[in-house]
Amino acid sequence: MTKTKKLIKILGVSFIDTTLQQLVERLHDSIIHNKKRFVVTANPEIVMNANKDEEYMKDIQKADYVTADGIGIVKAAQLLKTPLPERVSGYEIMLELLKLANQNSYKVYFIGATEDTLHKTIQNVERDYENLEIVGSQNGFFDWSDDQITQKIIKAEPHIVFVALGAPLQEKWISKHIHLFDKGIFIGIGGSFDVIAGTVKRAPVLWQKANLEWLYRIIKQPVRIKRSIAIPQFILQVFKEKLKGTSKE
Ligand code: UDP
Repeated sequence: MTKTKKLIKILGVSFIDTTLQQLVERLHDSIIHNKKRFVVTANPEIVMNANKDEEYMKDIQKADYVTADGIGIVKAAQLLKTPLPERVSGYEIMLELLKLANQNSYKVYFIGATEDTLHKTIQNVERDYENLEIVGSQNGFFDWSDDQITQKIIKAEPHIVFVALGAPLQEKWISKHIHLFDKGIFIGIGGSFDVIAGTVKRAPVLWQKANLEWLYRIIKQPVRIKRSIAIPQFILQVFKEKLKGTSKE
């Protein structure tokens, strides 16, 4: 049975109305049926970038699933009276997919981060998920036009390709290369390798529960402050969209 997907549109980006578990079930189903899937885990910064960069918006529109990565997206959906059930972050999807891969001995490929972080990520994944098969890896600082690298990934026939190049690079890489593959889940997961490798810590649970993970990241990595300007811009745009909507009611 094919499940229909309900979409919630926020500033031109169509989010899937899903919980983490429902999404993982869909992705598992896609793997079983040798389908190809492109997953974007979008936060307010990604939505704002897509609104400024037409090509990037087109890349995101190619995705099969765009999930709400960040409390900002969940709150915006609420404000627009089209609520989403929960936050579905790239890091959490990655952990669930690793579990799934471990249970089914799926083949996974890692693309992204520095060589050192990538190496530590692989070590930790091999330690914690003994049954999955890591069929290859590539650090995130490579020449995209190097056909040998692309061919290496294609030949490995991975069930899941984790792309941790950060936004917007990861979505652009997937959008540009996915047509070369016959099957596989392709997902952009930002700084998740840094968390798995232990080079960056996730916010303590209390901060996560208080929906303040974004603030924790800014405090820990102050270089992010410049990028965080997208958050107030996003809120402003969502309010404008809401006003447009209510004036039509
Ligand atoms: N990165 C990469 N190639 C690049 C630029 C960045 O592999 O050309 C990696 C970087 O090492 C880090 C990740 O992409 O591991 C970006 O993490 P960040 O937390 O900035 O991404 P976000 O979650 O904000 O998209």
